[in-house]
Amino acid sequence: MSNIVAIVGRPNVGKSTLFNRLIGQRKAITDNESGVTRDRHYGYSDWGGRYFTVIDTGGYVTGSADIFEEMVREQVDLAMDEADVILFMVDCIEGIHGLDNDFANILRKNKKPVIVTANKADNTERFHMAGEFYSFGLGEVFPISSQDGSGTGELLDEVIKHFRSSSDESTDNDIPKLAVLGRPNVGKSSLVNVLLGKQRTIVTDIAGTTRDAIHTHYNAFGKEFLLIDTAGLRKKSKVRDNIEFYSTLRAVRALEEADVCVIMLDATRGIEIQDINIVTLADRKNKGIVLLVNKWDLVEKDHDTARQLEDHIKKRLKPINYMPIIFASVVNKQRIHRVLEEAVKVYEKRKQKVPTSKLNDLLLKEIENHPPPAKKGKHVKIKYVTQLPVSIPVFAFFCNLPQYIQEPYTRFLENKIREHFNFEGVPIKIIFKKK
Ligand code: GDP
Ligand code: GDP
Repeated sequence: MSNIVAIVGRPNVGKSTLFNRLIGQRKAITDNESGVTRDRHYGYSDWGGRYFTVIDTGGYVTGSADIFEEMVREQVDLAMDEADVILFMVDCIEGIHGLDNDFANILRKNKKPVIVTANKADNTERFHMAGEFYSFGLGEVFPISSQDGSGTGELLDEVIKHFRSSSDESTDNDIPKLAVLGRPNVGKSSLVNVLLGKQRTIVTDIAGTTRDAIHTHYNAFGKEFLLIDTAGLRKKSKVRDNIEFYSTLRAVRALEEADVCVIMLDATRGIEIQDINIVTLADRKNKGIVLLVNKWDLVEKDHDTARQLEDHIKKRLKPINYMPIIFASVVNKQRIHRVLEEAVKVYEKRKQKVPTSKLNDLLLKEIENHPPPAKKGKHVKIKYVTQLPVSIPVFAFFCNLPQYIQEPYTRFLENKIREHFNFEGVPIKIIFKKK
């Protein structure tokens, strides 16, 4: 597991600005609207050859009776439990605020390394303002400007001094990345919470919660996953348009980052056009797919209901109907492990390479029995097939007249590949090249 750096501090000191700078992408939504940046955000960064996870903890307000604040507080507690290094961020423009002292009091009792990060030190005058933060008694103060990046190099030099040894650090590359996708209310956050066994994301009916993608390392079956939760394609209304825009963008980006998408459907609603769009997008982006039909507990069923619904779904999704379909109930924790098992299988299958000799043996025979139809009196002859040495399954068929091959024949070849080799849940690409 990589080292984890958590940024804590009261609202508006610039936590998400620093977070975005560290991970070099617009991962957190910076918006002053209350509640929006409060969920925990994960991202990855590196400095001096050390990889680490960054958590933006969002606001943290002590002593509030409000239920929402209470949940945010739990989130920060979790971040504090997990972090190897805590950046306590304060604001040079405003100086010491009452809430800063509340933070300092808690952090002084914490055994983890805490680095006082004095943000908004954009110029010399503000840089000197940072001196007052020594009064927290938390050691050296690092003035930075998250906005222009000044001081962040010195800060990170200090941060990595506190890291555990690098031997057990991993980059993301060998870890299956799973994205949980689906329409609003289908149960994405609930699923992620069950998988993590802790309250990682806030699930409530308050509009504007669970807003952002969250990357979390997760262990199961002796495997490490990277779980990418998304805000989905939006709950109800109330939140402003630009946030909706980012949420959708986020779902698409989560999909792009993933190796395998767990796409959730609501059993009580069947399969709708929006679901089909998500599946189509995952297929087009060549992502592994597992379909999870959730809320199975709410369906009145007999012994044949699952099979019937599966047939119906496969018919609607045609021709993109090669994925495993699992009927599950997240609230009853029914078949959740199956979902992960399938996701791992799909991940492995997506990486498999079929030996060329085996491919030719089996497929050339099929082609002989069912050759491509002649076009304009010309016969297409396929001579040779090989799987390309790339990260996703791509099969190249070498022939004399590649331009004459039509879509139905491509489908035929795909089906034959799927018959002979197990690519369940994995999109296959087929290309034709001139021999
Ligand atoms: P958070 O609530 O702690 O996550 O704070 P945000 O990152 O949302 O930032 C709050 C406000 O402070 C935004 O308007 C930022 O543009 C601004 N801000 C963040 N970093 C800096 C900085 O280094 N200098 C200045 N002048 N403003 C900053
Ligand atoms: P998201 O918008 O996709 O993240 O959905 P949530 O995880 O917030 O879930 C939406 C609602 O569906 C919540 O009230 C959940 O408790 C409920 N829910 C989630 N999974 C199940 C399930 O398997 N069965 C039932 N009956 N309700 C569920």
